[in-house]
Amino acid sequence: MSEKDILFMRRAIELSLESMKTGGGPFGAVITKNGEIISECCNQVTVLNDPTAHAEIGAIREAARKLNTFDLSGCEIYASCEPCPMCLGAIYWARIDRVFFANTRNDAENIDFDDSFIYREISCPFKERSIEFRQLLREEALEAFRAWEALEDKVEY
Ligand SMILES: [Zn+2]
Repeated sequence: MSEKDILFMRRAIELSLESMKTGGGPFGAVITKNGEIISECCNQVTVLNDPTAHAEIGAIREAARKLNTFDLSGCEIYASCEPCPMCLGAIYWARIDRVFFANTRNDAENIDFDDSFIYREISCPFKERSIEFRQLLREEALEAFRAWEALEDKVEY
């Protein structure tokens, strides 16, 4: 852990505290590249009425916009709390190199955030999930996948 890691995490924590002053949840995130902050964001779910407006998602969107790429290889993310499954997925999709976190998913559960619950749902078979999942029209939907596979001029990600 370097001095800069501590500095960036302190900034993420600061954002998590500031967030509440504007009506957001107690979460902050910072994305860095080559030792410099590229983007930062706090939770804005209730402010924007956007259930996906987590700090990490906001920071990823801004970093991708600034760097003009969907591939954030070479970046690190500092999150004031261990990322929820949605943000974890976004971090993988963005190919961020390293994740630093402060609070844990259990700390989040202790103040009634659903992170741990969703982590448990992921490993549940469809029938045991608390939200109903049904599969239909796979053959029709596969048409788009076949077309993608055959497409020669595509940007893979
Ligand atoms: Zn999240």
